[in-house]
Amino acid sequence: MRTEKSRASFKMAQLVIPGGVNSPVRAFRSVGGDPLFIKKAKAAMLEDVDGNSFIDYVLSWGPMILGHAHPSVLKAIIKAAKNGTSYGAPCQDETELARLIIQAVPSIDQVRLVNSGTEAVMSAIRLARAYTKRDSILKFEGCYHGHADHLLVKAGSGIATLGIPDTPGIPKAFARQTLTVPYNDITATKKLILKHAKNLAAIIVEPVGGNMGVVPPGDEFLPWLRMITIKYGILLIFDEVITGFRVHYGGAQARYKIMPDLTCLGKIIGGGLPIGAYGGRKDIMQMISPAGPVYQAGTLSGNPVAVAAGLETLRQLKKPGIYKELEKKSKMIAEGLGEAARQANIPYYQTRVGSMLGGFFTEGSVTDFASAKKSDTARYAKFFHGMLQKGLYLAPSQFEAMLLSTAHSTSHIKQTISAARKIFKMI
Ligand SMILES: *Cc1c(COP(=O)(O)O)cnc(C)c1O
Repeated sequence: MRTEKSRASFKMAQLVIPGGVNSPVRAFRSVGGDPLFIKKAKAAMLEDVDGNSFIDYVLSWGPMILGHAHPSVLKAIIKAAKNGTSYGAPCQDETELARLIIQAVPSIDQVRLVNSGTEAVMSAIRLARAYTKRDSILKFEGCYHGHADHLLVKAGSGIATLGIPDTPGIPKAFARQTLTVPYNDITATKKLILKHAKNLAAIIVEPVGGNMGVVPPGDEFLPWLRMITIKYGILLIFDEVITGFRVHYGGAQARYKIMPDLTCLGKIIGGGLPIGAYGGRKDIMQMISPAGPVYQAGTLSGNPVAVAAGLETLRQLKKPGIYKELEKKSKMIAEGLGEAARQANIPYYQTRVGSMLGGFFTEGSVTDFASAKKSDTARYAKFFHGMLQKGLYLAPSQFEAMLLSTAHSTSHIKQTISAARKIFKMI
């Protein structure tokens, strides 16, 4: 595979952008080598600046559930842009997107649009603190909730990938307000809650762990979290930035039938443009300015172009059969990869919820960050590069999800499984 142009582009980028990338995991640090620079993307395919094509299983880390450059989403974007790209005044489509989100996500009565998942989570935490008049929050090790100060403690995604223990630049006083426990660990969570109940504003959780690889919740975990948070007057926040409109049209909460107090969204609801949202019970959301005293604002929030892309994406996803089809294809690829690993005698622990797939190079089961970290990441790096050579673009990190879109065909999947058969035997 020729990569001269990507390598030259990366050299130039490093002169003017720290590490050459605008978000750390893009840099291939954990798998080695240089990142590919992408020229364009269409449906399930990416094309780099050297002209290589890849079947894309990263999907911009989540948003592109309909595949890249989906015709009707593109049409909506162009139509919106022609009417101006930002007003700084309300427009009717914002209400329409809010309505669609509220219709879809069971626990959301009212929703506020922001510009990223990070912003959504940051604002939801501020709101939870204001509502409960408490300061501390509890999160789970290996869960990633964006890069806001109080949430970068024992976080997943790039923090896990790069092995950063705790990020410099965060005041100790902030970090102290964030308690962490292992994902799926009810005993440890209970202990911590009993000790800190009076000062706990919220428990925030990825209802399906998607930033330490894919780690599904145990059967008891989410129902128990709902029960214990109600008991102690703690708000339960579902960070559905990745799971929202992915594992079910109504998110993980619709799939598992659990009602959190607040929900954070992002990624898919912007159809590939920058967006985020947080919503929940009306009595809590009414505390947001200007309805209430909790300040949160944004120059580009509810941006008409992002809103148009999100609206059209949700309209497409609402069509019957979409999630059934995604489930079927995801099952097919998971089974194929598992079978290929078994045939090559490679320990490979698989996880999957809908179109979010995980595969860890370890004998034991993966239920939390500690067990996820037992995966042989050097072997993952070899797997990643082997697959890349064969035209398959997986996440350049063990601790990220493999994602499918509606644009992935049975033939893409067969091609992927057949490549994996060969690569598993070589690593
Ligand atoms: C991606 C992600 C975020 C952060 O969203 P950004 O738009 O990158 O700020 C937060 N939480 C979860 C669960 C995510 O997957």
